[in-house]
Amino acid sequence: MLAVIARDKQLVVDTVDDPVPGSGEALVAVTACGICGSDLHMLRYGDRMIEQTLEAGMPLLFDPKRDYVMGHEFACEVLELGPDCDGAPVRPGDLVTSLPVALTSTGIEPVGAYSNVYNGGYAERMRLTAAICMKVPNGLDARRAALTEPMAVGRHAVGKADLAAGDTTLVLGCGPVGLAVIAELRRRNVETIVASDFSPSRRAVAAAMGATEVIDPATEPAIDAWRRVTGGMKPLVIFEAIGVPGMLDRAMKDAPAQSRIVVVGVCMETDHVHPSVGIMKELHVQFVLAYDPFEFADTLRTIAEGEIDVTPMVTGVCGLDGVAGAFAVLGDPEQHVKILVEPGRSGPIENL
Ligand SMILES: [Zn+2]
Repeated sequence: MLAVIARDKQLVVDTVDDPVPGSGEALVAVTACGICGSDLHMLRYGDRMIEQTLEAGMPLLFDPKRDYVMGHEFACEVLELGPDCDGAPVRPGDLVTSLPVALTSTGIEPVGAYSNVYNGGYAERMRLTAAICMKVPNGLDARRAALTEPMAVGRHAVGKADLAAGDTTLVLGCGPVGLAVIAELRRRNVETIVASDFSPSRRAVAAAMGATEVIDPATEPAIDAWRRVTGGMKPLVIFEAIGVPGMLDRAMKDAPAQSRIVVVGVCMETDHVHPSVGIMKELHVQFVLAYDPFEFADTLRTIAEGEIDVTPMVTGVCGLDGVAGAFAVLGDPEQHVKILVEPGRSGPIENL
């Protein structure tokens, strides 16, 4: 089959062996797969990401110097079930999504990220653990179903914030992660959602997805906008969704005493903060990662039932041969938010 292979820090379209479903696995055809910022990171800074994953104490058998196929935000059609799939919740023909992991006899393997074994969705076909595939409900189309994974990240970040009635929120950065946070805040009827991004197009998407005030930090510092909107006396939760050095330090300096800061943007550099600032203001800083299976499943439900509309986020689609170009374009926040790969088509990005 055809796949987009990450090889020597480049993306090349080439043929790879057809995946063969093993015990308990489903063979699926990829219908749509989102390109994630972490994929861009992995291609460029793979070695550093591995180093930091190991430093965090997470076991890893992945070698970015060998070929791998990324893509962990997928919606797929089940083609066939392998052996030992009795009782699987899906059958051939079903449109499904799944957490990007495989349950194997030796443990949990990542799929489409951090794996040389399980290819991801930048390919025509994949194998998934049938028992944890989730059938896409309610006639939801593959494009929106593929947004389950990134939206689950926002769902989890907001859950970790443990919001109380009367809390106000400030979202720094309106890339896919910030937008997922905004969508979840809106779903929970949070009254004040101030969102900040330098990009006019991303600010427009933020407004469409539920931000109650969108601001350009070049003309008004985000914290000033929050004060203007709220009067500055209400409890504040800041979501840091930018992930570049200095942002967390800035957020800690800006935050009023007793504020909470949820760090959801992934900064790959060494960064600095001033702990005394956090101490003097008794800030609560929470780092968050990914989601749990229940959050993932319920995120699919919220999209399928229309509680969250992900349509404004999906700004382009391309074929496998368009993925390398899409990676290049995603570096510019003016052009795209989320590009989906549809292996069934060919060609460069079509704007939506
Ligand atoms: Zn992702």
